Amino acid sequence: MRIIDVSERLLPVSRYADRGAPEGGLTTSVVAVTTDISRHGKPVVGYGYASVGRFGQSGLIRERFAPRLLKAPEDLLINDAGDNVDPFRAWTVMMTGEKPGGHGERCVAVGALDMAIWDAASKIAGLPLYRFLARCLNRVVDDRPRVRVYASGGYLHPQNDLDNLTDEIRSFVASGFEDVKIKIGATELKRDLQRVETALAQLPDSKHLSVDAMNAYSLEQGLDAASALAPLGLRWFEDVCDPLDFPVQARIAEAYASPLAAGEALFSLAEAKLLDRHAGLRRAMDVLVFDPVHCYGLPGYIDVVDHLTSQGWARNSFWPHGGHLFCLHVVAAMGLAGAELTPLAFYPFNGLFNGAVVGGGWASLPDIPGIGFELNDGAWRVFQTLA
Ligand code: MG
Repeated sequence: MRIIDVSERLLPVSRYADRGAPEGGLTTSVVAVTTDISRHGKPVVGYGYASVGRFGQSGLIRERFAPRLLKAPEDLLINDAGDNVDPFRAWTVMMTGEKPGGHGERCVAVGALDMAIWDAASKIAGLPLYRFLARCLNRVVDDRPRVRVYASGGYLHPQNDLDNLTDEIRSFVASGFEDVKIKIGATELKRDLQRVETALAQLPDSKHLSVDAMNAYSLEQGLDAASALAPLGLRWFEDVCDPLDFPVQARIAEAYASPLAAGEALFSLAEAKLLDRHAGLRRAMDVLVFDPVHCYGLPGYIDVVDHLTSQGWARNSFWPHGGHLFCLHVVAAMGLAGAELTPLAFYPFNGLFNGAVVGGGWASLPDIPGIGFELNDGAWRVFQTLA
């Protein structure tokens, strides 16, 4: 078993359903990893992408991590049974020669390729990713599992912001979502509070709305926002301050009695340990939103979950960032709380898959081998351009 080709392409992605709206040049990397194993007369190809919210990683993928996979001899990639790629061994191949620390965004490049390798391995095994991953982790999943989901969006719109926000939340509710998250922190607090009121007007109560400040606040701004939001009793208040400013995060946690969410912009086990030790988070109610792709892919993410659960965090505290099919599988296989979805933003990685059922805040999983990108028309169209 060898990896015989890796293709990568930089793809623009937009935070808005209207893909013509300005999006600040945001990109992601899409990758295809071709194996020398055939199914149905064709080589098995795994597909992945660098999640959303950072930028594409073309250079790192093309110059550093793909060449290591392509050069790796069979015995470094193959599983014990000799019939499939072992994604953990492939990950070790990618990380050969990498020193501890200096996480930067190399973890995002590794995570994009890692997703494609898991897609390929589960296709070779003939299983949906959630079943393949559960088997690798010795975990049991239901016969017909469902995953708790929430709809994420509500970015500040350059024009007609409140009208657009209303339309967006209405569309989420009409699509079967019960819980919603919107962005704050990109405008003054007074205007953000209007945005929160606008979103709440479309929801049964404040327990169904979370806000995400996208790491924008200083201590003073964070405390102002915390005191304004506290009386509302929101579901959670996410990404309050700089992701590595643990003293500020801890001061906000002292001042804000409702749930906080953090971890989305921390990409390593070492950073996760620092967050847990120094950010004042409360295990009984706070929420961890590490992104499995941005954390060096699944091997890195599994280490983060294993460590934090060993420290007393519940699996039910993990709501991975990312917003697409991959996290749906990860949540189902690892028994985590639920997954973020972006029904409108980040085309072609918005929505779920043809035949998906979303209702009462739960989503079904695709039942074909791999992640199921083939069942999402937009994503599949883009991945086919890599062939
Ligand atoms: Mg966030």
